Amino acid sequence: MTDTITGKVVIITGASSGIGEATAKEIAGKGAKVVLGARRADKLEQIAEAIKAAGGEAVWQAMDVTRPEDNDAIVQLAKDSFGRLDAIFLNAGIMPVSNVSALKTDEWRQMVDVNINGVLNGVAAVTPTFTAQKSGHILAVSSVAGLKAYPGTAVYGGTKWFLRDFMECLRMESAMEGTNIRTATLYPAAINTELLSTITDPGAAEGMAGLYQAFGISPDRIAKVVGFALNLPEDTTVSEFTVGPANQP
Ligand code: NDP
Repeated sequence: MTDTITGKVVIITGASSGIGEATAKEIAGKGAKVVLGARRADKLEQIAEAIKAAGGEAVWQAMDVTRPEDNDAIVQLAKDSFGRLDAIFLNAGIMPVSNVSALKTDEWRQMVDVNINGVLNGVAAVTPTFTAQKSGHILAVSSVAGLKAYPGTAVYGGTKWFLRDFMECLRMESAMEGTNIRTATLYPAAINTELLSTITDPGAAEGMAGLYQAFGISPDRIAKVVGFALNLPEDTTVSEFTVGPANQP
């Protein structure tokens, strides 16, 4: 298969740890030019330096995905740094899960803001560029909790179910409008990252910790799938990937 990833300019949100960090390193190693965004500037700087030390190309900018202007600014950074933009990996997310009866309403709102509005802000920021150039790839991270209901993940899962509908509508509308904007939605299962640190409910934290200790795999595995998606021929899309530990039921 012809290599299509080399030279692609790719924005990664939530690039300061976990799946985003692993993906940045994986695709930069395959020749993509990466543009890293998240809130922790110190982590982004370290990751960008590591990528450059390994011979790759990376720039970074502190951003909060819930702020539309930060999403617009990172698109501008990509264009200013590398002269183009080919793809965005909408990966930033939080998972403060708990039963509905715990009424952690502030956390419900935070999840909606980061996991839904953060993605919508990213899509809004890249769409004018992708539409004008009639080419672009939008990849988003949902979850297996976006495919199936699990007790304790009502709001988190809801934000991830939203992505399934939104991304599939986007794929169909782009095809009908002839904009050639491709989409890919990932549905990871247990991946060992910092994600569990966002849980404040003690019971939920304990349950999740047990699950991840039993089954969790490295975020490198998800990074390889993103690399595969970005390397597909330009006329081809694989729009959904469910990826997780081989031994997780
Ligand atoms: P991490 O906690 O390691 O990474 C989350 C990333 O999101 C961090 O880089 C964090 O950076 C960033 N982030 C959080 N809030 C914001 C914000 N407001 N603005 C910008 N960036 C933000 O966890 P994962 O790597 O696991 O999570 C990545 C994605 O994968 C999430 O969407 C998660 O829901 C999804 N997922 C993960 C699974 C898993 O088992 N790990 C399973 C299924 C889905 P910073 O704090 O610096 O802003």
